[in-house]
Amino acid sequence: MHESAFSTALLRWFAQYGRELPWRGISDPYGIWVSEVILQQTRIEQGRDYWLRFMDRFPTVEALATATEDEVLRLWQGLGYYSRARNMHAAARQIVEQGGFPQTIEGLRALKGVGDYTAAAVGSMAFNLPAAAVDGNVYRVLARHFGIDVPINTAQGKHTFQALASELLPEGKASAFNQAMMDFGATWCTPKSPRCLDCPVADTCDALHTGRTGLLPVKEKKLTVKERHLTYIYVRHQGMTALRRRPAGDIWQGLWEPLLIENGDLPQWETPLKLVASNVKHVLTHRVLLADFFLAEPTRRPGLPPGYIWVKESQVGEYALPRLVEKLLSLL
Ligand code: SF4
Repeated sequence: MHESAFSTALLRWFAQYGRELPWRGISDPYGIWVSEVILQQTRIEQGRDYWLRFMDRFPTVEALATATEDEVLRLWQGLGYYSRARNMHAAARQIVEQGGFPQTIEGLRALKGVGDYTAAAVGSMAFNLPAAAVDGNVYRVLARHFGIDVPINTAQGKHTFQALASELLPEGKASAFNQAMMDFGATWCTPKSPRCLDCPVADTCDALHTGRTGLLPVKEKKLTVKERHLTYIYVRHQGMTALRRRPAGDIWQGLWEPLLIENGDLPQWETPLKLVASNVKHVLTHRVLLADFFLAEPTRRPGLPPGYIWVKESQVGEYALPRLVEKLLSLL
């Protein structure tokens, strides 16, 4: 069985190479919790000093609960993400009100600012609850060793890796196993240069044997679809209309379009503009375009912004137009 061999090998590795940290070996849930909150967005070297100072000033959860928010934030200064400190302060008060630290995963999870990962980390290390703490390091180790290419930032990915990590938890050793996974990911199976040559689980590592250490874990790119508003004016004057060729460095480079107003005011001409269509939607890969389309029939030939030329209306069909513009012109 890969699983049990994997866990045994990691625990053996941890006994030899586990990091020495000031909060290691303690079973005080408060100290463990503080370390986990500090390390959420902070490098371990910097976090260590902050932890020592924090524990010195607020040695117990009661001490933290009775502090003012100002005091807590001052001690946190330089760590950033101040909501972490505020949540921790609020949670300390919750804990004191409840008469002590909750000793179940659900109880921990109910504290302000505590998510699945922190609940599992504190629960396993302080109370040896059988909960797998899955952070970025753990995703990487599991994805590589077991050759899993489900994207880690999807619901399916979270479920898959959480289930696998739980399955791998050796009975009664959740605390050591969670710490082993975190340390192994942070120091051995690192993002850029994993130490595969002296890796304790290299024999069974799927990524190593299929040459995919650089490809796993997989992260799904989240496309941010931006909206862009375009206002087109079809100018009609004595059988002529205005077009311009779209410039380089933007959508539809080199294609032609009628008078475009983007982020500006409509021109004030004697003859009012006639709205032909509004909010016509056109979807591109990374963008949603919303177009308003006006018809202008000025009595005098208006001046055009730079880049526009007058063309015969009967010849517009000879110019290469973006699909959206074709769609708009068909509405005339
Ligand atoms: S062999 Fe390399 S990629 Fe595989 S678990 Fe070990 S360090 Fe990570």
